[in-house]
Amino acid sequence: QMSRRFFVGGNWKMNSSNQHLAEHTKLLNSINADDVEVVIAPPSIYLCSVRDKLDKNIGVASQNCYFVDNGAFTGEISPSMLLDNDIRYVIIGHSERRTIFHETDELIANKVAFAISKGLIVIACIGETLAERERNDTLNVVYRQLTALKEKLENEAGWKNVVIAYEPVWAIGTGKVATPAQVHKAIRDWLTKNVSSKVSSDTRIIYGGSVTADNCKELAHQPDVDGFLVGGASLKPEFVDIVRARK
Ligand code: PEP
Repeated sequence: QMSRRFFVGGNWKMNSSNQHLAEHTKLLNSINADDVEVVIAPPSIYLCSVRDKLDKNIGVASQNCYFVDNGAFTGEISPSMLLDNDIRYVIIGHSERRTIFHETDELIANKVAFAISKGLIVIACIGETLAERERNDTLNVVYRQLTALKEKLENEAGWKNVVIAYEPVWAIGTGKVATPAQVHKAIRDWLTKNVSSKVSSDTRIIYGGSVTADNCKELAHQPDVDGFLVGGASLKPEFVDIVRARK
């Protein structure tokens, strides 16, 4: 567990503005938490501005990317374009991409594998809907989403630059918080069984879903929870407290 650096991502979704980010990046630069990997994901139009304003010890992530480097794909951006601008992370498979934009397990797996092959670090999101949870299908869904990734990633090297974000859909933006330790343990056991014990012990499994300054400390001390992906609270000053959840 000591080998897994605590990871806190801030997913701004389709929020912020030049005015907001000018202030918020100043605050982020003042956090002094070198023991935490902090990664900020603004809308793509603000990626370069945020990258320019943030200190180098804070990472920047795109909220999406395509699985081809260049070409006739209007509206998309590619891993090589991200790297060309020093954007080293990407969120792939967020539940809003899956539900609103109908991204399938297979498309997501293709994107993850391509982004990894180009050298990005991928925050791969998985998690069940409320209906799936009520049907007792949580682990089936999570295993299905992981299996889709495994089919494209194949070997250990592929998994090295993956951070798994377990985000139950019913907890995202709802104020409902999961007790994620059991699912995190199940994901880690799945990695041991289906990839390798090394990947299982090295991979960060982070939690997302209504994380706030108030609940982050308790969540951060749950076994197998290696950090957070934060939506709403990542736009606010309380994000600083969430980065320091383990303190
Ligand atoms: C997210 O967008 O990944 C998320 C977890 O959102 P929120 O923190 O607002 O629930």
